[in-house]
Amino acid sequence: ERGRLARLRHTPAVTLDGERVELLANIEMPEDAPAALEAGSVGVGLFRSEFLFMNRGGNLPDEEEQYDAYRRAVESMKGLPVTIRTVDIGADKPLDGLSAAELRHESVLNPALGLRAIRWSLSEPSMFRRQLRALYRAAVHGPVKILIPMLASQREITQTMEHIAHAKRQLTEAGRSFGEVQLGAMIEVPAAALTLPLFLKHFDFLSIGTNDLIQYTLAIDRADEAVAHLYDAWHPAVLQLVANTITQARAAGKGVSVCGEMAGDPAFTELLLAMGLRSFSMHPTQVASVKQRVLRADTRRLAPLLDQVLYSEDPEAACESLLSQTNGGA
Ligand code: PEP
Ligand code: MG
Repeated sequence: ERGRLARLRHTPAVTLDGERVELLANIEMPEDAPAALEAGSVGVGLFRSEFLFMNRGGNLPDEEEQYDAYRRAVESMKGLPVTIRTVDIGADKPLDGLSAAELRHESVLNPALGLRAIRWSLSEPSMFRRQLRALYRAAVHGPVKILIPMLASQREITQTMEHIAHAKRQLTEAGRSFGEVQLGAMIEVPAAALTLPLFLKHFDFLSIGTNDLIQYTLAIDRADEAVAHLYDAWHPAVLQLVANTITQARAAGKGVSVCGEMAGDPAFTELLLAMGLRSFSMHPTQVASVKQRVLRADTRRLAPLLDQVLYSEDPEAACESLLSQTNGGA
């Protein structure tokens, strides 16, 4: 079994009917990049940059330190794309040393609904532009994509774009070289999933954060054990938002990926393929199992089954029973 998985590493992820599928890795530090390559991923779909900011007593990394970290991640991936998400601090990932409340205006009542991710970045403009400058500079060393977390409104999109333009002007004025990057939005708040044309107009690609999309769609705090049994990735509302996001992005000719846990869970591989997803980003340890499912799938057989799962009372059971009747099943 080990040897088989090792051989699988260099096998391209292509379905039985010839559809190419991109399997990417989620990483937390530049040091995780070799494991991402080792696992057979073809790039980094999510580098959670907040891990550079955490566990350091609230002392934030400066532009040079960030540039160095992003450049190392990019160089380790040897020309494969590296998608780096701007800080997603807050909620389940607090900056330590500074308690949530001390960190300016963070909500202590429910941090998941408080000042986190892009909301925090927009409230700390010099911190945000410092990170953007470091990211654009790292793009000189290989393909970098920047991903913005937790966007929910046009106003946030506009402000984000203004900071990006400002950061690039600062680099030009300082005579720094920087590269071109693709800009992506995370779709992880239902408001974003319901107003996709706004996001498709301003961004080059979308990445669906199912972990938060489930939390916010179902009103289940992902960190609260008392309601963990209600946190349900198979909820039809969640599946419909994911399917709709994939359909609309593809119709607009934009890239779309899933980078939440759903992408790395083999139980969802065929369903996501049926929705039209061709880019999955996951923990490196999941790449081999998802690839096995992709290699055995036939999207021509799967696609017609989609509605039967999406509009079923019990999508998990429906998916399982349909797959057991299809050759595309595992
Ligand atoms: C998500 O929300 O699905 C996601 C990928 O981001 P995080 O888990 O870091 O919030
Ligand atoms: Mg998230």
